[in-house]
Amino acid sequence: MPELPEMENYKNLLKEKIANHLITDVQINREKSININPDLFKKTVQHQRIIDIKRRGKHLLFQLQNEQRLLLHLMLGGWMFFGTESEKPKRTIQVRLSFGQNHLYFIGLRLGYLHLYSQTQIEKKLSDLGPEPFDPEFTVNEFLKRIGAKHGRLKTTLLDQSFIAGIGNCYSAEICFQAGIKPTKDIDDINDGDRSKLYNSMKNILQEGIKNGGYMDNPLFQEDMLTGGFNNRCQVYDREGQLCNRCGSTIVTEVISSRKTFYCPNCQK
Ligand SMILES: [Zn+2]
Repeated sequence: MPELPEMENYKNLLKEKIANHLITDVQINREKSININPDLFKKTVQHQRIIDIKRRGKHLLFQLQNEQRLLLHLMLGGWMFFGTESEKPKRTIQVRLSFGQNHLYFIGLRLGYLHLYSQTQIEKKLSDLGPEPFDPEFTVNEFLKRIGAKHGRLKTTLLDQSFIAGIGNCYSAEICFQAGIKPTKDIDDINDGDRSKLYNSMKNILQEGIKNGGYMDNPLFQEDMLTGGFNNRCQVYDREGQLCNRCGSTIVTEVISSRKTFYCPNCQK
């Protein structure tokens, strides 16, 4: 599932492509991917300019001229492609937004969605989300305060979107690896020094993810060389049975909260 760096990467690249561009056509192939009557959706979105694109947690928000917003969550298996009809990947398209000859294709939107909301509705929808990792007000002290109120496995807390918004299975594993802490560890057993390390690793790893275009498999557009660059930089995620780049031990997995969790049993304490 795309996490903060993947969505931030999409946001940055899409801004260059479609910000201030007019949506010339809207095609809904799967009604379940949207939240209102398709005719009304089309009527509200078509002939609008996208004036801004923002990210909140794992969501993207497309801000329209008419004050309405499209709220995108790709969930598991969702991705996007931007380009002409001839460049389009041979995949089933659930929703298509057109910008003249170019189109933004929403692919694999099964669990994911593209919902239309007013600003007030959006605020309500996203009100349960925790702080953004790069919010200047989310300081190390704020992190220590928040994690101090938590118990149970570290991994479960890192995945909790009301604790911090935007972290999922891949980056939680990478953050714990960099901090040298086992994701299976109970929060009560992690001292303040290690908790501060987690905060710093969270920022480092997410920043590195963004810088390298996240881990999505498919490029966003034909000449896109950035998207997916983080894929081969993962130290533990999806590396079960491979050797740790830091100590040479074998990376193992354990299931926590029904998610596969990757770590090095030797250099993560
Ligand atoms: Zn190791």
